[in-house]
Amino acid sequence: MAGIWIYSEDIILAKELVTPAKELAKQAGQKVGAIALDAEGAKELAALGVTKVIVLQSSSSWVEAYEQVVADVLQEEGADIVLIGGTIRGKYTAAKAAARLDAGLLTDAVKVMLENNKLIAERFVYGGLAVTTEELSFPAFVTIPPRSYEIMTAESEQGEVIVKEVTAEPGITVVDVIKTQQQGVDISKADRVIGIGRGVEKLEDLTMIQALADAAGAEVGCTRPICEELKWMPIDRYIGISGQVIKGSLYIAVGTSGQIQHVAGIRDSKVIVAINTNEKEPIFTASDYGIVGDYADIVPALTEALQNAKA
Ligand SMILES: Cc1cc2nc3c(=O)[nH]c(=O)nc-3n(C[C@H](O)[C@H](O)[C@H](O)COP(=O)(O)OP(=O)(O)OC[C@H]3O[C@@H](n4cnc5c(N)ncnc54)[C@H](O)[C@@H]3O)c2cc1C
Repeated sequence: MAGIWIYSEDIILAKELVTPAKELAKQAGQKVGAIALDAEGAKELAALGVTKVIVLQSSSSWVEAYEQVVADVLQEEGADIVLIGGTIRGKYTAAKAAARLDAGLLTDAVKVMLENNKLIAERFVYGGLAVTTEELSFPAFVTIPPRSYEIMTAESEQGEVIVKEVTAEPGITVVDVIKTQQQGVDISKADRVIGIGRGVEKLEDLTMIQALADAAGAEVGCTRPICEELKWMPIDRYIGISGQVIKGSLYIAVGTSGQIQHVAGIRDSKVIVAINTNEKEPIFTASDYGIVGDYADIVPALTEALQNAKA
């Protein structure tokens, strides 16, 4: 095997990818290389012990413009395993570069390992109900979603950073750019979240939920129907397999049934508390603590208890 390489246009995700890349490198007796699009990010990767970081520099700020160059660099370097950050743009680059190198590509892997000189990757299927294990021969491309791995601490031995001037053509014409409006905080980064579901009966009750969030130092998130059907909250507030993934220290689920599509986005929270009138709902299986009862009684009582504890 010639090498394990990582690439993401998102530097935080690139740093997360160093963790599985180094695990694979240790198993294979290899070193880790990285492709970066900015010099500052490249230094951070080198500080994490990536042996060689190649910074691609061109006049284009379009990530899409780099797929050919990424493929060329990976080929020159003889990459056998390429871990790519599973953003929309990362998946685009992965698909294009893998096709150019006639390599296998597996998307959304949450775990990667080496076995019998093959890359083994696990990923969720059927909306998160099952995990499938797949096998790829080399060269193998795998995309890994954000927050699948923790970022390691920096190493004493730093890698080298090489800047490469490249010609990158996007091959697309941009007619207009409309920025998405982030409304409020980024829920995926919140440490504590109160998540409301369809069990919350009235829009006015969001005041009660917000009071609990304030007392707990939490942000308010929700299930998909709260955004898509009821339109009570912005779309970037819903949690789950097709929404945000949270990994904070506390999640309180209020009036949510705990369908797998929602649980897929909360299961890595350290402590999960459920408030629901129906003790048979699956949210209780996913929770560390369960309170069976009406949120209209429980939420104000919990808020008061937290406020008293702080006083
Ligand atoms: C392809 C696909 C992707 C999806 N992706 C997502 C996703 O990413 N995120 C997501 O959330 N959903 C997603 N869904 C939808 C998901 O399947 C569920 O429909 C949804 O999560 C249910 O939302 P809910 O828990 O708010 O509502 P419900 O399932 O209707 O649950 C409401 C709950 O409130 C409880 N309740 C009622 N009254 C009270 C009360 N007074 N006090 C306390 N509890 C009460 C009920 O017992 C019930 O358990 C997806 C679905 C599909 C098909």
